[in-house]
Amino acid sequence: MQKSGGCLLLIFGISDYANNRQLIPRPQEIAFFFFRQPRANLQASWLVVCLLLAIISHTATANTELPRHNPVPGGIAIIPIPKSLTAEITEPKAYFEKNRVMLLPATDAESQWIAVVGIPLTSTPGQQKLTLINTRATETSIHFDIEPKNYQEQHLNIKNKRQVNPLQQDLERIQREQAEIIGAFKSWHSTSTHFSLFEMPAEGEISSPFGLRRFFNNQPRNPHSGLDIAAPEGAPIYAPADGQVITTGNYFFNGNTVLISHYNGLVTMYCHMKRIDVTPGDPVKKGTPLGLVGKTGRVTGAHLHWSVSLNNARVDPALLLSRE
Ligand SMILES: [Zn+2]
Repeated sequence: MQKSGGCLLLIFGISDYANNRQLIPRPQEIAFFFFRQPRANLQASWLVVCLLLAIISHTATANTELPRHNPVPGGIAIIPIPKSLTAEITEPKAYFEKNRVMLLPATDAESQWIAVVGIPLTSTPGQQKLTLINTRATETSIHFDIEPKNYQEQHLNIKNKRQVNPLQQDLERIQREQAEIIGAFKSWHSTSTHFSLFEMPAEGEISSPFGLRRFFNNQPRNPHSGLDIAAPEGAPIYAPADGQVITTGNYFFNGNTVLISHYNGLVTMYCHMKRIDVTPGDPVKKGTPLGLVGKTGRVTGAHLHWSVSLNNARVDPALLLSRE
């Protein structure tokens, strides 16, 4: 009886994965398989299928809890690291453009670790290298390719001209704030090797996708380094995954802002908030309220700007969203 219960749990555990990938028999197909077996074979069959399902569900967990591989500027490269390079290293470290890179445990035969590399929007397409530091402090490189991507243009009209062409007195403040925000993006907390995909931090349509080449009042400015969620002023904002609040502030461009570390160089940022309900150092769980949507800073109206940073590279948040 207990054995059957375990099997049933496993069946339900893999059903979503099976439906997505079409690689694994569906629960009804497994049920049909049992229906056809003579009674004497049934116990042995349960055992074989339990073992099979255990293997499948283990592989499924490892595969589904990874961001989507999209090696373009503003994208993410998922790079399995050959065992030959890390066999003798208990805690390997990987770097891309001098920033430490997230490594997650792998379960396949060829690799022990998988590098999850954020690619800056400013990266040049072509061959790039990931640097691995081994226990003798010598370096090894793994090469990977970045493919080109053309992002659309977006033209916005800002009424407050000072937010497009800041005054001399604003520049010092902007510089100080930029340094604080970059410092948060570069922060490294390695208390967990666990990684989970994100839930959307607010309800609403995506009104402005990631990567748009932006023009404010017809003047070219930095590309859109996050995505905008059209939510009304006062709508709640939630943490998309577990983590810890790194810093909060009221910034010239970003308005009321929260930055959260989700460990191993993965940081998220929430801007233009009406109200902030967390303080630096607070631990957060997936779904913890962070504050309310607003229209503070450089905006054309109320919305949530959500940025995701991996190894100090702003990447498309859509690549980390749960696909359920
Ligand atoms: Zn935005």
